[in-house]
Amino acid sequence: MITLPAGAVPAHGLDGGVTAFTTGRATGSFGLGSSEPVESVMARWGALRHALAAAGVRRLATAHQVHGRTVVRHGGGWHGWLRGDDADGHVTNVPGTALAVTVADCTPVLVSHPAGAIAALHAGWRGTAAGILNEGLDALEALGYPAVECAVVLGPAICGQCYEVGPEVLSAIHGRAFDHKALLDVRAVLVDQAQRRGVHRLTVDTACTRCDNDRFFSHRAGDVGRQLGVIALNASSP
Ligand SMILES: [Zn+2]
Repeated sequence: MITLPAGAVPAHGLDGGVTAFTTGRATGSFGLGSSEPVESVMARWGALRHALAAAGVRRLATAHQVHGRTVVRHGGGWHGWLRGDDADGHVTNVPGTALAVTVADCTPVLVSHPAGAIAALHAGWRGTAAGILNEGLDALEALGYPAVECAVVLGPAICGQCYEVGPEVLSAIHGRAFDHKALLDVRAVLVDQAQRRGVHRLTVDTACTRCDNDRFFSHRAGDVGRQLGVIALNASSP
């Protein structure tokens, strides 16, 4: 049993044998790009790794995120904290492995399959337009886990009432020309994308990083801090 960090919000609706959550402001920032002392940030990563390892989860995969659609598959045979090169998604079917994405308005997308496979995806507007969700589901299908059988959770992210974007963003998302600003609900777009893949076990967290800025970091609200979306495939024998 993995002990969740203080301030973390558990993700509901995923399969058994999986632990998933998004950290909050009370947990502290996991961002590696702020001016906060290194020892403070690394202590949080260390505490997270300790909590995971205590439950037998000895692999934590992350990556330098670039708002793209690259999804990396992680096998076993290693232990520790991986910070991979440019990628915005991770999949694994190896028990004892955790996957994490850093977010602050972008959507943490957490996916599980009942036969024992998981994915974590970082989906801002760029990644959503580029198809990070489809890439993640494709990566699971390539391992033998059909998208229609997967459960998908969209975690805390900026809501449609807080996120005004320019015409270039709307064009990228909707695939047609726009000449004005408008509000964009990225999670609604992700829901549509998931449903097109036949996903019917879909849970959307209603928390907004900006409306609920006391609980979460928000880039739009001026925060440099980052929360973590985490999903772990529990160890078979901790
Ligand atoms: Zn909001």
